[in-house]
Amino acid sequence: MSELGVGRPTKRRAGAAVGGLPVADSRPVLDGDAVLGSRCTVCRYPTTQQGLPWCPVCYEATEPDRFARTGKVWSSTVVAIPVGTRRPPFGLAYLDLDDGPRVLVHLAEPAVLEPGARLEITGTDDGDLVATRMEQ
Ligand SMILES: [Zn+2]
Repeated sequence: MSELGVGRPTKRRAGAAVGGLPVADSRPVLDGDAVLGSRCTVCRYPTTQQGLPWCPVCYEATEPDRFARTGKVWSSTVVAIPVGTRRPPFGLAYLDLDDGPRVLVHLAEPAVLEPGARLEITGTDDGDLVATRMEQ
């Protein structure tokens, strides 16, 4: 009889950095002028999640795709408590990429933006996407 959980990856393990199993990094990846992801070959569902074995909507095959760095704010907020190494206040937004999925981005300025405001992903900070407001 095997010990419960031994040899099986679980979300309770702390990750490779502290001697556990590696934990998948679910954050979107910026590659030059595009956000990396994949798109379903059948229903065209886009996602930036890496390494998905099949489409999360219809279970068909996916193909790699590249999405625009620009999009519209769906929602945003200013965080007033420390999170990880982030010191408050800092801004977060959900950004609907122009030809792709919705991604979470850090804002260059701690400000609440109106829905529909145009943002451009300008880089990364500690692996998180950072976006700034586009000139009108
Ligand atoms: Zn699909």
